[in-house]
Amino acid sequence: MLRIAIQKSGRLSEDSLKLIKECGISFVNSSLKLKTESTNFPLEILYLRDDDIPGYVADGVADIGIVGENVLVEEGMQHLAMEQLGFSKCRLSLAVPKADTYTGVSDLNGKNIATSYPNLLQAYLTENGVEAHIHTISGSVEIAPSIGLADAICDIVSSGSTLISNGLKEVERVFKSQAVLIANKELNAEKRQILEKLLFRIHAVQRAQRAKYILLNAPNDKIEEISALLPGVKSPTILPLAEEGWSSLHSVVNEDDFWEIIEKLKDAGAQGILVVPIEKMII
Ligand code: ATP
Ligand code: MG
Repeated sequence: MLRIAIQKSGRLSEDSLKLIKECGISFVNSSLKLKTESTNFPLEILYLRDDDIPGYVADGVADIGIVGENVLVEEGMQHLAMEQLGFSKCRLSLAVPKADTYTGVSDLNGKNIATSYPNLLQAYLTENGVEAHIHTISGSVEIAPSIGLADAICDIVSSGSTLISNGLKEVERVFKSQAVLIANKELNAEKRQILEKLLFRIHAVQRAQRAKYILLNAPNDKIEEISALLPGVKSPTILPLAEEGWSSLHSVVNEDDFWEIIEKLKDAGAQGILVVPIEKMII
């Protein structure tokens, strides 16, 4: 059985559980338990504080885990990283009181900066030739300037609304983060095999999330032009419609190119365009 460590309760929890469920792995989810076993896959889930996850995986208490890159790199455990998972995207940023004039990173020389990420911050300051005093605190970093504890902060930002509501402005981006899958480096052959199976499923889920299934009707004389816009997995499926001279084209498009392709398809004469989500995608 493979053991995965995920965050017990916090910003990573919901999406971590969602990914496991989308991989078709069922388990009884009880918020009271610290450990659950899947009923249909050789996986055991440990629920932990996110800060503890890299250490548990490095020690082999858990075989794999899901954690933010910010925590992983802060703890100097980046060698455990296997792959980025695309959720819990955020950044570690420097912020100063809104009323302060800020001209550049050198303004931070000699300043007090409060953060929960002293190592990431120190690396950034060193890289930029800044000497500042780092004040490490474990939470509520954003109130440090208003209570006189620090001149600036370095904290996790996603939309920036927490900074604004605390009278701060973001001035530098220190680190970009998202959730990553980490793994112990010395898994036995049996566990590696289970991990391979899990990765196969994760990749199918991730591929499907980026892709959309597209169906449209096209006049037969436009099929070539429209097909060229639809790369598909191999090439588009073309089926004749009951109405003479028309066909139905089916394909897969990447979410990123989606709106641009739709415009081009319409211009090329496509009609009745349907775009539907894909649940799993094995290629
Ligand atoms: P724990 O109690 O487990 O120690 P925590 O309070 O340290 O939790 P959370 O605030 O739940 O941590 O954040 C967990 C991780 O989620 C962060 O390390 C970061 O990678 C990511 N994260 C934090 N804030 C956001 C956000 N606003 N948007 C997206 N991801 C975020
Ligand atoms: Mg934490």
